[in-house]
Amino acid sequence: MILDERDDESEDVADARHERRVARCRSCNARIIWFTTDGGKKMPVDEGTVEAGEYVLDLSRHRSHFATCPKAAQHRRAKA
Ligand SMILES: [Zn+2]
Repeated sequence: MILDERDDESEDVADARHERRVARCRSCNARIIWFTTDGGKKMPVDEGTVEAGEYVLDLSRHRSHFATCPKAAQHRRAKA
């Protein structure tokens, strides 16, 4: 699907929707967006790698916050 022609208004709406999806990492307070993997698991993705309107996880472009979080070790410990 190709959406070349977007007017400004729809971009604003997409940006606002994007902003509402942004969450904060509890460990380092980074801006993250939650995605669901193919396996049905929730994965936090660095907000900077996600464009507005993207809802499908694409690990060729999206960076898992688990990989970049400076306190990732705490995530793992918290889950145990
Ligand atoms: Zn973090």
